[in-house]
Amino acid sequence: MTTHGPTGNPAGFAGQHITVAGLGVSGISAARALAGLGARVTVVDGGDGDKQRAAARELTAQGITVRLGDGDTLPEGTELVVTSPGWKPDSPLFAAAAAAGVDVVGDVEIAWRLRGPGAAAWLAVTGTNGKTTTVRMLASILAAEGLRTLAVGNIGTPIIDVVLGQGKDGEPPYDVLAVELSSYQLHWAPSLRAHSGAVLNLAPDHLDWHGSMQAYAADKGRIYEGNTVACVYNAADKATEDLVREADVEEGCRAIGFTLGTPGPSQLGVVDGILVDRAFVENRQQQAQELAEVSDVTPPAPHNIANALAAAALARAFGVRPTAVRDGLRAFHPDAHRIQHVAELDGVTYIDDSKATNTHAAEASLAAYEHIVWIAGGLAKGATFDELVQKSAARLRGVVLIGADRALIAEALARHAPDVPVVDLDRTDTGAMPEAVREATRLARPGDTVLLAPACASMDMFVNYNKRGEAFAEAVGELTARDH
Ligand code: ADP
Repeated sequence: MTTHGPTGNPAGFAGQHITVAGLGVSGISAARALAGLGARVTVVDGGDGDKQRAAARELTAQGITVRLGDGDTLPEGTELVVTSPGWKPDSPLFAAAAAAGVDVVGDVEIAWRLRGPGAAAWLAVTGTNGKTTTVRMLASILAAEGLRTLAVGNIGTPIIDVVLGQGKDGEPPYDVLAVELSSYQLHWAPSLRAHSGAVLNLAPDHLDWHGSMQAYAADKGRIYEGNTVACVYNAADKATEDLVREADVEEGCRAIGFTLGTPGPSQLGVVDGILVDRAFVENRQQQAQELAEVSDVTPPAPHNIANALAAAALARAFGVRPTAVRDGLRAFHPDAHRIQHVAELDGVTYIDDSKATNTHAAEASLAAYEHIVWIAGGLAKGATFDELVQKSAARLRGVVLIGADRALIAEALARHAPDVPVVDLDRTDTGAMPEAVREATRLARPGDTVLLAPACASMDMFVNYNKRGEAFAEAVGELTARDH
């Protein structure tokens, strides 16, 4: 960990020729905001369907130029490109920008540059899994402290709109923001300097976008750049600690670990069912401060306790009192499709963890149950399944496979769990879920858990993971006792 002095970033967007790549939620928000600041904005998108045309009409009415059907050529005179998360770094548009010496940045970079003097501090969270949960826990803790705050970033209101809306309409400005950042957003946010940052964990994901595990890790590690108070890492995941060591931070910034075991000095951890802080206390060699009980965290699964500790570490770095950590955690309830209890029928429990869109998340939820009929499959995004299957094999009563890349999982099962019955549905249509649930039910015995934790993205069959989870819940609803 090395240190450096402060940096300044005057926004100066007025009059600039800015090209926004992508007519999605973040692109539309960026285009509007930048046009509102006096920039001359062109939005480009390779698509030219009804949806894009409708959005284009609205933006055109606001003086924004929209070019549909060509996302590859750089509009003449472009001085800055603002990209959307879906666009890969090797997109031809960015190659054209590089050739022309034009910077490419994302919405988070724009939001960061737009912060005025005295703007709310950012407590930033990234990681392969647990980001949304941790950021929501953090916002809940900060609110319990009486601070004006919001969970932003990869969730909810686009971050540019939040920063520009600060203190408008007579509302008092935010004191602090709990910011979720994806690896894509970090990739395109070179001047971001958070108050404190956390990398929750690091496992292969989105490798098709980043190109390699090193590139993915390096982008995640950007969250620590320029931190002023704390770089929070996962003591059980050495890769996150390595990223802290490599980071360039402000003088006095500390490395703070979290662990599910007994914490060492400068760590938060768990002792006898109590979440304790041995980092932000006067005498950390001798003392630990009680923060909350494990039972204050919902659900109290190990990975979720880790999320709570990371949120607590960031809050404590911001000076939040221990009682507010406890109250904030008690007030927090997880979002849908994250280890969500759907129903219990004839002794079989149905759990929707549709948000387990990669192997690391699926591993966490498979570890939480003893006998599982696992519904898995979808888009693998370049992942392999051997390790996941090896670690989970002993818990599997059976497996039902759906989706485009199910053969990859089938092969891993054949290699490492040859005795586990597998039903390969050979379906990639949206309507496959009821059959998957019926097959899973057939394999399950009383006391088992039918777990939708696909370890894959959903877009081959569903609009998104929410729809996949809803389809699961609906299919469970359609089951009758006769089906068992
Ligand atoms: P993200 O915003 O990073 O996608 P979420 O909080 O939405 O994270 O959780 C995503 C998935 O990862 C869920 O399926 C959840 O069960 C799992 N998960 C949550 N926290 C962790 C963690 N710390 N380690 C591993 N898996 C986790």
